[in-house]
Formats: sequence, structure tokens, C-alpha cells
Amino acid sequence: PARGEVILEVEAARKQFGGLVAVNDVSFSVKAGEIVGLIGPNGAGKSTTFNLVTGVLSITSGKLNYRGQSLAGLSSREISSRGIARTFQHVRLVPGMSVLENAAMGAFRRGEFAPQRGILASLARANRKEEARILSEARRQLERVGLGDLVDRPAGSLALGQQRILEIARALCCDPALLLLDEPAAGLRLKEKQALAALLDKLRGEGMAVLLVEHDMDFVMQLTDHIVVMEFGTKIAEGTPAQIQVHPAVLEAYLGG
Ligand code: ADP
Ligand code: MG
Repeated sequence: PARGEVILEVEAARKQFGGLVAVNDVSFSVKAGEIVGLIGPNGAGKSTTFNLVTGVLSITSGKLNYRGQSLAGLSSREISSRGIARTFQHVRLVPGMSVLENAAMGAFRRGEFAPQRGILASLARANRKEEARILSEARRQLERVGLGDLVDRPAGSLALGQQRILEIARALCCDPALLLLDEPAAGLRLKEKQALAALLDKLRGEGMAVLLVEHDMDFVMQLTDHIVVMEFGTKIAEGTPAQIQVHPAVLEAYLGG
């Protein structure tokens, strides 16, 4: 995508669980080459927003557009095959399998990978050409994120910071234009956070659109172009990091009580 193209447009998105309004008519957008932070106290509706965008939850009302097309009615599989990839709050790697195999899981086309069969059996079922495509794509993405030297290591032997980067490599294997990251910096040491920030900055430079849920405010303020703040399901503020740091409603939400 060209830098500045609107990749994700969330328009008055609403999600109700019975009487509880978890996401209350929230609007924002994410452009190519932009990192948008989605912040707010626990229970604000951040994960629910992610789940709406990825099709894990169906929207109560409002619109979600991806590169100008509605995501209405699409399954999470269809949404991911269009180019929306995510990582999860807790690392979801297979520790005993190699870095390469873990990354390759993201490169299977929709429906090809049968997790219950395991990656090697799934690869064996793919034809030779397909297997070569999957492994070379996985290698390419591991090089891209700087894990090219660790392809044969068991994923479980990597430091947490490298495991988070491996999860990003796996997400990149489906060639996304939009990356959703759920607390990628949680639990990382300062050096690891810096390496993660450098990678996200590089991806932004390549035109990736990134939506980032993160509690580490230093990380968010240093890295993002734009921040959306939610509280009790409602968007209470948005703006640049500099604007958000002095925004009265944000200070109230975080410091007030
Ligand atoms: P955050 O990620 O910002 O901490 P969530 O999106 O997880 O917040 O939750 C927003 C609100 O919606 C919370 O009050 C939460 O309890 C509620 N909620 C989330 N998922 C469900 C669900 N599946 N069923 C009922 N309530 C839910
Ligand atoms: Mg959450």
C-alpha cells in the first residue's frame, strides 16, 4: 500500500454483551506507514475492539472498512486472508519446534494447516512446490525481523523478546497490510523493548499499518504517531503523543479515579 492510504477505518463501532456496552460507538482510522496506539485502563474495551476488527466477535452496530472494503459478515479466517494479522497478549508458540517451523505456521494458505496434525505432517501433505514456498516465505520473514541466524533453534530456547519478535514474523508470513499487536512489550527488558521498537519502526518505514494495544506508556509515547484513548468503552481522547500526555480527560482517567 502507498504511504498514507487509509488501511483500517472504524466507524461508530459498537459491541454490547447483553446490557454491557463494551465498545461504545468508537471511531478511528489507521493509515499505511502509521503506528496507532490504543490505550486505556483495564476493561476499557481495547481487546474487544481488536476482536471486532479480526472478526472474532461480531459487531453490534457501526462499520469496519479495510482498504475501502467492508469487513461486514466476514469470518476471522477471511479477514486474515485479506491481510489483517495479529499477535496475542500471551505468547502462542510451540516451544519444542524450531523457529523456522513456528514462523512457517503463518505462511500456510487458509485451511492448509491442520494444527492437530502438527506442522511437519501438514508440510508433508502440501506438495513439494507448496512446501518450498512456505519455508522460503518463513525464512524471508525471519531475515526481515532479524532472526535469520536462529532458524534451527527451538522456539522455547529464545529469550522472551525474541519470542515476541518471532510471533511478529509469523504474522508477517501472511503478507498483511495491517498488524494488530496486543501488549507486545509486556514483561520485556529495556534492551528487548528497544529492539522491538526498532523493528516496528522499520515496518512502519516499509508502509505497514500498525494498531498497538500497550500498557507501557514510555513505549507507546516514544513509538506511536497517533493515540486513541478508551475508558469504559468510550473513546475519551485522541491525538499525537504530545497532545495525549497533557490531555485533561486522559490525566483524569489514569490519575483521577
Ligand atoms: P480491555 O482489553 O480494554 O481491558 P475488554 O475489551 O477485554 O477490555 O473488556 C471490555 C468490557 O467488556 C469489560 O467490562 C469486560 O468485562 C467486558 N467483556 C469482554 N468480553 C466479554 C464477553 N465475551 N462477554 C461479556 N463481557 C465481556
Ligand atoms: Mg485486554
